[in-house]
Amino acid sequence: MITRRSLTLAAGLGLLPLAARAGDFDDFLADIGAQARQRGVSPQTLRAAFAGVAPDAKVIELSNRQPEYKDTIGDYVDRRVSLKRVTNGRAAFAAHQRVFQAVEQRYGVPGSIVAGVWGMETSYGTAMGDHYIIRALATLAYQGRRRDYFRSELINALTILEAGDVAPADMKGSWAGAMGHTQFMPSSFLKLAVDFDGDGHRDIWNSIPDALGSAGNYLRKVGWTPGVPWGFEVIGVSAGRYPRSVKKSLSEWASLGASRPDRGPVSGGAMASLWQPMEEGGPTLLITSNFTVIKRYNNADSYALGVAHLGDRIRGGNPFSKPWPAGPDGITQAHREEIQRRLNAMGFDLGEPDGLIGDKTKAAIAQVQQRYGLAVDGKPSLQLLQLLRR
Ligand code: CA
Repeated sequence: MITRRSLTLAAGLGLLPLAARAGDFDDFLADIGAQARQRGVSPQTLRAAFAGVAPDAKVIELSNRQPEYKDTIGDYVDRRVSLKRVTNGRAAFAAHQRVFQAVEQRYGVPGSIVAGVWGMETSYGTAMGDHYIIRALATLAYQGRRRDYFRSELINALTILEAGDVAPADMKGSWAGAMGHTQFMPSSFLKLAVDFDGDGHRDIWNSIPDALGSAGNYLRKVGWTPGVPWGFEVIGVSAGRYPRSVKKSLSEWASLGASRPDRGPVSGGAMASLWQPMEEGGPTLLITSNFTVIKRYNNADSYALGVAHLGDRIRGGNPFSKPWPAGPDGITQAHREEIQRRLNAMGFDLGEPDGLIGDKTKAAIAQVQQRYGLAVDGKPSLQLLQLLRR
């Protein structure tokens, strides 16, 4: 007979599959529930929240997945600010024009920046994630890598259910617990979500005004300065001469020769740094404190530049005047799209080329590599592209 203790020991050593740990998981939920009760979560809410919840092996698998390619920042921005996302963004911006204007008026954050966040996070609400947040967070709190963090977010999520802002069935999001149109973690939701449409609920899942208002409120509360641009592409000054730590007013930069490819103004007293994201070439930018504020949403230069540039493009702005250089493997976004286009022409069905190397593209590349007698790894390469061009 397997005793409870030996079962726990075996589970702890990773010797048992998930299902065998159900009893321990129930104990774990009971423990979470006790802690949530202290935060005012009722037994009814807990019962509804935990109904049928078991650990989700898929969530653990996703949390362990390492990105296959280390994108250069140029690749990242090109991929995320795709023509499709720009086109869809312009349509969404027009469709919700009054909401964006109202958000800008109340929080001083440009509608285009809020649209950039919406587009980067969930492609304007079309990819919010369909994981039940309680289950995903419970799984990560039970056996993930940052258990304390996810435990605290799980309890936050339960207090959101207690407040009645959303029904358990609607509380969907990413495997990592980011929720709704603008992918707020429960802690951010509790602090910064707003009821922008005034119906009494903060509903970032079903109400676009609530979601966009919450993103505007978030950026304002973490330090957005109204009336100051995030930055823009410049020419005429060399980033090699002025490291990113050097801050000067936009007017000073203009007097040093900075101008904009789109001929917009470089003026005013806002402080800005010169930044060339890729040493090998590509665009040079002037960035202000508001660029740093975007990083409070997701702490990466690449992400902030994606939001900022997507916002500019949605507002009708041009692509960067200087194309991004190729990464260390020599492969650019344009190369990846061309590989997909040529594979489609050979009869593969990869859909509209987007430069994203997913399972279908990998399988197609692997087949072609085999056909050409190349090493079969499913990865795009210049050698492969040259063969496809013949
Ligand atoms: Ca509402």
